[in-house]
Amino acid sequence: MTTLPVTEPPRRELTLVPEASPRDRRVALPPRHLADLDQAGRRAAVAALGEREYRAGQLSTHYFGRFVRDPGRMTDIPSATRNRLADELLPNLLTPVRELTCDDGRTRKTLWRLHDGSLVESVLMGYPDRVTVCVSSQAGCGMACPFCATGQAGLTRNLSTAEIVDQVVWFAGQAARGELPGCPDRLSRVVFMGMGEPLANYGRVIDAVRRLTAPAPEGLGLSQRHITVSTVGLVPAMRRLAGEDLAVTLALSLHAPDDGLRDELVPVNQRWKVAEVLDAAWSYAAGTGRRVSIEYAMIRDVNDQPWRADLLGRLLAGRLAHVNLIPLNPTPGSRWDASPKPVEREFVRRLRAAGVPTTVRDTRGRDIDGACGQLAAADSARTGRDGHHGKEREAAQ
Ligand code: SAH
Repeated sequence: MTTLPVTEPPRRELTLVPEASPRDRRVALPPRHLADLDQAGRRAAVAALGEREYRAGQLSTHYFGRFVRDPGRMTDIPSATRNRLADELLPNLLTPVRELTCDDGRTRKTLWRLHDGSLVESVLMGYPDRVTVCVSSQAGCGMACPFCATGQAGLTRNLSTAEIVDQVVWFAGQAARGELPGCPDRLSRVVFMGMGEPLANYGRVIDAVRRLTAPAPEGLGLSQRHITVSTVGLVPAMRRLAGEDLAVTLALSLHAPDDGLRDELVPVNQRWKVAEVLDAAWSYAAGTGRRVSIEYAMIRDVNDQPWRADLLGRLLAGRLAHVNLIPLNPTPGSRWDASPKPVEREFVRRLRAAGVPTTVRDTRGRDIDGACGQLAAADSARTGRDGHHGKEREAAQ
């Protein structure tokens, strides 16, 4: 086994307020947006502006039902009113800084600038049968996983509910306009696998999930089980999530079956150990009936040994779980690499022999910038590596 140094959480100062306290960080949140509010909140906000409450429904239909945010196109609302409502409830939250596409336009990665200058990314992946978007939940991330580009930069701030939702609405509009060749025109899946730790921004992420799954015009009307929330394993938040009335898919970034290694690869393991985190995952599975996805980045000579596959197999056998192996996407300057294919195949074979359903993620985004977080981490540095995003495929035997 390679011994890894325990990584110190990186320090990072806020650009706006150098010595920001948590209170200052809240100040950096963007202006209120329609998508921050539920239907009752929208009606109250519209009434507070001196307008008729039913305008909230009209505005919602434009934004969530037709992906229209330009007041010039809201011809069912008088022009003075619609300009005022759009100013107050549809502020511009995301400005595209860079858009990279590959796979004939079916993979798109967008780097956004937020109102305070923070940068975040989202990725759209179109397939013949579905369109998936991978969203960010925080600008940066405080979890400090040493193999992850976002983890290296530290946390800037939480995203607001609307900043999360708007990433999806943006791409849903592209799909609806038929801009994704050979793909359905309806965006159907959302994965919280972009920048950030979703369960560290719990309330806003849950609100975002509620907006994404509420039927139009309150929300986008996506199916709960087509939403995947991925976590490093914040045990109290995982237990809380199990108590929400939401049957979303939970993905757990395990990356090692033993505490010795996981303490290093996923530093939050120093707080909640493998046994505790798996226990919380099984409670989630029992409570929701949803199969938990165990994420495992295959890192050459670090976590890919046959004995670790066997140990993982013993931990997961008979559970409502499947393993999703992710070939490591090396971050710039990293000393780690992806596992060789024969090693990966042996890992898969052992897990399956233990009765654990296992897939290997097919990396998407071959021609565009690498792992999530790399665009924001180094806006000008182009690596040309694979993204860690991608559809699952059966591992070739
Ligand atoms: N904070 C959440 C979600 C963000 S990342 C989480 O950790 O689950 C989504 C997945 O990509 C996680 O499983 C993460 O560990 C993995 N990942 C991050 N960097 C990677 C890299 N360089 N190569 C492969 N997978 C990576």
